[in-house]
Amino acid sequence: MSTATPFVIAAPPQAAIAVAGESGAFPVRRIWCVGRNYLEHIREMGNDTREPPFFFAKHADMVVADGATIPYPPQTKDFHHEVELVVALKSGGRDIAAADALDHVYGYAVGIDLTRRDLQGAAKNKGRPWEIGKSFERSAPCGALQPATRIGHPSKGKIWLAVNGVEKQKGDLTELIWSVPEIIAKLSEQVTLEAGDIILTGTPAGVGALNPGDKVECGVDGVGTLTVTIGAPE
Ligand code: MN
Repeated sequence: MSTATPFVIAAPPQAAIAVAGESGAFPVRRIWCVGRNYLEHIREMGNDTREPPFFFAKHADMVVADGATIPYPPQTKDFHHEVELVVALKSGGRDIAAADALDHVYGYAVGIDLTRRDLQGAAKNKGRPWEIGKSFERSAPCGALQPATRIGHPSKGKIWLAVNGVEKQKGDLTELIWSVPEIIAKLSEQVTLEAGDIILTGTPAGVGALNPGDKVECGVDGVGTLTVTIGAPE
């Protein structure tokens, strides 16, 4: 017998990410994303390199697993890839000190911040939220998490993405303007972080358009790889 309040419709399934070497999965509570965290990407987008980072969000059920086929999304003609290091939290809090931040990390993965760039640009031009350009079904592919207990806390290593075997994005974790501990500290000033939250930490230069049929492969040295295919529009 359960003491939980019954729901008037079926409760949604819990979004989750696979964990390498574990039978259990990581339950995703929220998806936070960092805007503009590699200098070369800030320059390619024509933005001010001196600005502090800022955050936006996707919904937990927008994660898709390694190997997925992602239908080309609606309402866009400029669907972009952004490969990113993903940080998964096992605990949270408010005003976390950067020096303590890594204590809250469960592990790391490779993810893609899929973006409807034309819709994002139109929203920016009108002073509206980025939401519709960033937050849509299957917009957060994420590879298997590697527990920090196994791989440590990567602060260097190549981050890359290739489309149909041609390298498009390349950077190194050493080029992150705000480090993982600084990102956790900054974000926890704005919201109370929780266990199950994941953070996409920004993308290096080389973002570009995807089309139906494209095979997208990406990785972070020491963390892993992720492969997805773009399918026909639904
Ligand atoms: Mn991004």
